[in-house]
Amino acid sequence: MPDVRELYQSVILDHNRAPRNYGPLADANGHARGHNPLCGDEVTVWVRVAGERIEEIRFVGSGCAISKASASLMTAAVTGRTIDEAETLAQRFHALVTGRAAGSPPDPTLGRLAVLGGVSQYPARVKCASLAWHAMHAALEEAATPLRSVPPPDFGAP
Ligand code: ZN
Repeated sequence: MPDVRELYQSVILDHNRAPRNYGPLADANGHARGHNPLCGDEVTVWVRVAGERIEEIRFVGSGCAISKASASLMTAAVTGRTIDEAETLAQRFHALVTGRAAGSPPDPTLGRLAVLGGVSQYPARVKCASLAWHAMHAALEEAATPLRSVPPPDFGAP
């Protein structure tokens, strides 16, 4: 029987060695940098959002295998999703890696992200796993700002 931990390990090593959606995004409308001083991880995330949908998301990063694999898995998971869906997924992922989801049934919406669940046993690694997600959140805020900062049309006082 295959060892589940070995399977998880191989997914993380694969995404670390061959990260998906790696490299800057030229026509991004949101970006953000993240830094984890505890481990030395750095990540920059670019997004191109049209309407409410994430059309493309890319990243560049340096640091440990967990931080890079998490960023890679994240970009694969949120491409094509709406901002709200991505933020919901970020919350579920955070619950997973902080161990708040422990004891509850596995969350099927996490898909491959579940491979990072083991991080919850290593508190120092939680920041490695969540770094790219914080950067994604900030990048999405930047992308959404021009839309959401437009004041509603003024039809005059009733
Ligand atoms: Zn790290």
